[in-house]
Amino acid sequence: MKAHYWLFIFFFSQLPTAFAAPPSVVVTIPPLHALVNGVMDGVAKPTLLLSNGNSPHTYSLRPSQMRALQQAELLVWVGENLEGFLQRPLAGLPKTVTVLTALNLPELQRLPARTGGMWEGHHHHEEAHDEEEHEAHEAHEADAEYQDPHVWLSPANAVVIVQAVAQQLSQLDPEHAARYQANAQQLQQRLQQFDAQLQAQLAPVREKPYFVFHDAYQYFEHHYQLNALGALSISPEQRPSAKRISELRARIQQQSVSCVFREPQFQSSLVDILLEDTNAKQGVLDPLGVNLTGQAAEAYFMLLQQLVDNLLACLQ
Ligand SMILES: [Zn+2]
Repeated sequence: MKAHYWLFIFFFSQLPTAFAAPPSVVVTIPPLHALVNGVMDGVAKPTLLLSNGNSPHTYSLRPSQMRALQQAELLVWVGENLEGFLQRPLAGLPKTVTVLTALNLPELQRLPARTGGMWEGHHHHEEAHDEEEHEAHEAHEADAEYQDPHVWLSPANAVVIVQAVAQQLSQLDPEHAARYQANAQQLQQRLQQFDAQLQAQLAPVREKPYFVFHDAYQYFEHHYQLNALGALSISPEQRPSAKRISELRARIQQQSVSCVFREPQFQSSLVDILLEDTNAKQGVLDPLGVNLTGQAAEAYFMLLQQLVDNLLACLQ
């Protein structure tokens, strides 16, 4: 009898720590979700807000998702430049929800959003511009307030995000801090190795000029020093003007652009129009990796590999 009693006390005294629930975490887009999933491996699964290939540029929140957000302990998102639909809901969230904004991380590489349909090729700064023009360009870059939010497509930024997520989770859930830190370290090492592989794979197509559907790949281009020349539209909700389309068509013909990449989330008729009567090929690039959700942390690596494979398939 007495032994049972002590067993009983022992069992219940262990309950609060043994069954302390890990924090409920909501993540907006698939690539961020994959990274957070990797940090939380072996502890719990984060919830993905934008599944089914929805674009964060054009999304709106459902009431059930609003409730899930209110009950979350941690929300991980890029920032209002990408998930504009969250700006208002976030203002109304209770103080119990910690918000991690990737775009605000001090160590993150941030680039100003580009304007216009055509950019300068990365290699051609020196020859193509006189001093004055070059300086004007730099000044414009420094002034730009609007930052390009597609930050996850640089693996160097992924490393920064992984570190920040592990730190935040460790604060919210000290019991699993060692696990979060170990997961993050492993993930960061793998990201660095993987990055070196991709650098080597992309080397043969670095100089090849191409166009993309919307300006989602600036971080990827910078990181891998690719030669993208322009985008059909700055963001997917803006349809390019007839003027821009004819501008781009002229460029495709003059500069022997080898490829124009469309995106699986958006209709391809614009790309078809652009390619009519030209020799350029059509490829597909997906900045979110919408076909890869359900792959946990692996989805991030597959997303980058998929971009590389699709670039090589069209440009080589
Ligand atoms: Zn975008």
